[in-house]
Amino acid sequence: MTLRIFNSLTRRKDDFVPLDPDGRRVSFYNCGPTVYGPFHIGNARNFVVVDVMRRWLEHLGYTVHFVQNITDVDDKIIARAAEEGIPPGQLAEKYTKLFFEHIALLGVRPADEHPRATQYVEPMIALVERLIAGGHAYASEDGSVWFEVRSFADYGKLSRKNIDEMRQGERVDEEQQRLKRNALDFCLWKAAKPGEPAWDSPWGKGRPGWHLECSCMAMKCHHAETIDIHSGGVDLQFPHHENEIAQSEAATGRPFARYWIHNGFLNIDGEKMSKSLGNFKTIDALLALYDALTLRHFLVSASYRRELDFTQENLEAARKATRRYAEARREAARVLGAEPAADAWKHSARARELEARFAEAMNDDFNTAQALASLFDLVTDLNTVRTAVERGAGDRGELEALAALLDLFRGILGTTANLEPAEEAGLSDISGQLVELLIDVRAKARRAKMFELADDIRNRLSGMGIVLEDSPAGTKWKRGG
Ligand code: AMP
Ligand code: ZN
Repeated sequence: MTLRIFNSLTRRKDDFVPLDPDGRRVSFYNCGPTVYGPFHIGNARNFVVVDVMRRWLEHLGYTVHFVQNITDVDDKIIARAAEEGIPPGQLAEKYTKLFFEHIALLGVRPADEHPRATQYVEPMIALVERLIAGGHAYASEDGSVWFEVRSFADYGKLSRKNIDEMRQGERVDEEQQRLKRNALDFCLWKAAKPGEPAWDSPWGKGRPGWHLECSCMAMKCHHAETIDIHSGGVDLQFPHHENEIAQSEAATGRPFARYWIHNGFLNIDGEKMSKSLGNFKTIDALLALYDALTLRHFLVSASYRRELDFTQENLEAARKATRRYAEARREAARVLGAEPAADAWKHSARARELEARFAEAMNDDFNTAQALASLFDLVTDLNTVRTAVERGAGDRGELEALAALLDLFRGILGTTANLEPAEEAGLSDISGQLVELLIDVRAKARRAKMFELADDIRNRLSGMGIVLEDSPAGTKWKRGG
């Protein structure tokens, strides 16, 4: 069974065949964060789904070299640092640290390399020089350098936009329009204004453009001009990835990345969650309401290319699902009295069948939604066999096999036991049910016009950190307030 990946470049599911002649090593680059603030759960969707892809490739036996950059110099960083009254470098450092803390909370493994843009300025300048020498770039009078889009015949092959559509995506800056030869030309090297972070270059003091950074770090960190997989959110397809392709391929004359993967948006109230719209939820804020296991499960509950809605219903469903399998696993361990051997699942025909279904889903463009269906069936079986063993009628070997398979699935999805909430899951299930019970009692009290009692219930729950929200559809509750 071959892994098939939906490749944005070919617009179809392609068989995955790595460049490595031995077919083992895989070079993988994911566009990382611009560190001017804490990342939100929308960004986290990218980090988590790519982490699952990496784990699946490893499970298939590939040696994955996974690189994710950190953009630590950028207009937004400079602006934000000015607001906070600290140097841009210090601001970037603060949010880089927070990035690592937050990915760890979500069970996202650090990349093999996290190159920072500011550490690669020298090779970035060399890449710009190479593009100028090849007739693909030119300097303007202010000391900026631009990529000449007309010089690269394949421009647009990833996003397949026509020139008019491309222009719509462009921010019109009159000063820039004056400096460029053509409206679509984009910045490779940006001349510094006084007081901005700057490096010496053949064109004067300046800093690298964002697109250039990724081209350079991807090739440098992989020691290759062509890499296997390049990924990012769908919003990066144009112009960011289109421009990465143009710069890299114009410079080297070789294909830059063979498989382009783009994840869909996390939406909130029907809109993309984003920093600029201000409708975002940070990991800190969410962890006060939901545990990490719930958040991670929620993020993998849809196939990565689809849009995913951030709603209380979806998060509550994720919470319920994770409680179910965490509890099933704990009960199995209690009955077994020991941890299952990791490969015990191989001894059970039923486990092998479930594993094959899971693998089929994952090999079909990392379809985690479908993979979860076989995880849920596995949990049903696990509970049935465990109950039978408790009654003295079941097969302990089968119980061990199914428990081991659950560990395998959870390891691949990264929904592992270390993300489970600290409080005992059984207890928290009951407390959830108790809250529902009190909501019910309160509704009855209100119908009986016992408003004092109803308000008392609401206030005392609020004192425990449980907030009730009334709507025509009924009352919902959440933790925190
Ligand atoms: P940024 O820090 O905004 O450059 O984003 C970092 C990564 O998160 C990029 O791959 C983005 O495409 C991705 N991303 C940003 N917002 C969302 C969202 N609402 N849903 C899914 N991915 C997103
Ligand atoms: Zn990038």
